[in-house]
Amino acid sequence: MEARGGIEPPLKVLQTFALPLGDRASRRPTDIIASAETVRAGNLAESPAAAPGHLVCALEPFPIKFDGRRSAKVHAGLPPHRLLSTHIKAMSKEQHSTGLDYDAADEYHPAPPPSPEIPAWKTGGLRIGIHTSIAGDIALALDRARDLGANALQIFSASPRMWARGIGRLAAADAERFRARRRELQLGPLVIHTNYLINLASPNPVLRARSVQSFHQEIVRAIDLGADYLVAHPGSFCDGHVQEGIAAIAHGLRQAARGLKLGGLRILLENTAGQGSSIGSRFEELKAIIDACPDLPVGVCIDTAHTFAAGWDVRAAEGLEAALRDIDRTVGLARVAVVHVNDSKTALGSRVDRHEHIGKGKIGAEAFARILAHPLLNGRAFILETPIDQPGDDGRNVAVLWKLAGKPLAKNKGTKNASKPTNVRRARRVTAKHISARY
Ligand SMILES: [Zn+2]
Ligand SMILES: [Zn+2]
Repeated sequence: MEARGGIEPPLKVLQTFALPLGDRASRRPTDIIASAETVRAGNLAESPAAAPGHLVCALEPFPIKFDGRRSAKVHAGLPPHRLLSTHIKAMSKEQHSTGLDYDAADEYHPAPPPSPEIPAWKTGGLRIGIHTSIAGDIALALDRARDLGANALQIFSASPRMWARGIGRLAAADAERFRARRRELQLGPLVIHTNYLINLASPNPVLRARSVQSFHQEIVRAIDLGADYLVAHPGSFCDGHVQEGIAAIAHGLRQAARGLKLGGLRILLENTAGQGSSIGSRFEELKAIIDACPDLPVGVCIDTAHTFAAGWDVRAAEGLEAALRDIDRTVGLARVAVVHVNDSKTALGSRVDRHEHIGKGKIGAEAFARILAHPLLNGRAFILETPIDQPGDDGRNVAVLWKLAGKPLAKNKGTKNASKPTNVRRARRVTAKHISARY
């Protein structure tokens, strides 16, 4: 039979595919919807797809001459009679060409990647967070933080005093649910504190290997949860030597991160009170570790109680200035992303790490007002790791920080006593051992 215009129809159309003309970016040669039978050469002219005003094309290069148009085509996912009407006019120049000419516009152009989204929590405003429990369900930690009046939070991603069994990964569904809930609540940054058993500086090779493996799992879970920071105590050199400890920590961090794409995650080394053989009470030690990991995104978390116990008198304005100067001279203030705001039960320079409620310890409320308002600490997240001696202590500490900052409590404040009385006994036991943050 003859096609319209008296031009012989093609001998054979092997496959036809869709090119929705209004939406070139979505063209895909995989959108094959019509078989050779559907639009075979012989009945092409009768196909509604071939009606004048419709562009038709074919996947297989073949010489189609139909009504002066160069190719045969039906629309993806639509039967031929629902073919989108198109712009044959534009093709009139090619009326007598044969075969499929290359048309750059016919190429599949993947949609450009979405421009990186600024997370909703990055408002530029003050971020006050608290370490919250993941008991029951990890996503509950988010609601707990929100109910306490925080707009940021810190969690453990697994039990902090047990080595994870197996590969130590979170179920993908749990991680997804966590990320979705966090987006809803607009909480951030999300800080994850590593397991207390990890000691990358351990001179004991078995413990060290376990620590590296465990740190690796910490990074994996932090990535899965979409965390911003992973805070770690550098480690203790025990009966070894501090320099060997520093080298071991740096090596351990590199081993733990090997093969992982950290994305936006940064590892933060926390300064310590200097208890026992713990590394990191001097900022030079943190700097040495950072310098030995040039390929890793390593920053610093400053704990006020640890800084005070390590000898910086942050009670007074001059003492705070001196501490900030020392931090800037060594690790650099730009590397400080998180401040753990804890008052101290122990005296200046005691080298003993005991957290206290804000304003109830040796540092005092006035100093925290100064820390929260200090221009050099602007933009940092202030995270509480204060004890829970009485129900509601956590919410009270959050409220005290907002008050000292002269800001209203973060919106969405929930119930006043978000920590249930049932948590108290457990919290006490934990505090007694001075585990500053609860599981
Ligand atoms: Zn801390
Ligand atoms: Zn501490």
